[in-house]
Amino acid sequence: MNVPRQLYQLQEIDQELESNEKALREITSQLGDSEAVIRTREQMAREQLELEELGKQQRSVEWEIDDLSGKLTTAEKNLYSGRIRNPKELSNLQQETAALKTRRNRLEEKALEIMDQVETADKNVSRISSDLKALETEWQHQQQQLAANLAEIKGTLSRLKERRQLLADEVDPAVIEIYQQIKKQRGTAVARVEQGICRGCRISLPVTEVQQTRSGNLVRCSSCGRILFLA
Ligand SMILES: [Zn+2]
Repeated sequence: MNVPRQLYQLQEIDQELESNEKALREITSQLGDSEAVIRTREQMAREQLELEELGKQQRSVEWEIDDLSGKLTTAEKNLYSGRIRNPKELSNLQQETAALKTRRNRLEEKALEIMDQVETADKNVSRISSDLKALETEWQHQQQQLAANLAEIKGTLSRLKERRQLLADEVDPAVIEIYQQIKKQRGTAVARVEQGICRGCRISLPVTEVQQTRSGNLVRCSSCGRILFLA
């Protein structure tokens, strides 16, 4: 049984496990609400409120115009009825009619302004609404994709864990312990030997160490302490 080879395989599985766990964390952090969607929903709510507010103003101004028009009709009827002969009273009525007309003109101008604002707000609401729809669709698509990736990674992780367990079961627990300790200290526990050099620390190994490694013995690099493996 070539223990270094087994440990090297174990290391490869561990590295795959780590990269999959990293991907899992990344995906998990991307799952959930989208900032852009939330912001756009808030913007939409504000614009709708604005539109409602303008609608109220519009109705109120229109109502006032109607009211003034009614008063004006009555005043004009009186003015031209010929019933009022008193010059003072006539003059008052003329002034009243003129004042009503001025007020109505002002309100009509205001109504036009509000109409413009309503039009703008209306356009804003449609624009934001279509933006929101696009963002939500994209977000949903992305979330579905993430969920699918997540499921795949979870499957990979569980297969890797199983393989690791099977492999680790074949190795002496004391050796596994050494492997774990070196891994903790150095990041990687097993180093390949290539052309007599430890790939872990890039130092030339004594010939005896290389020979021992070649015969499949558990040899640790005299320089970095990693378990040596010769493919
Ligand atoms: Zn080394």
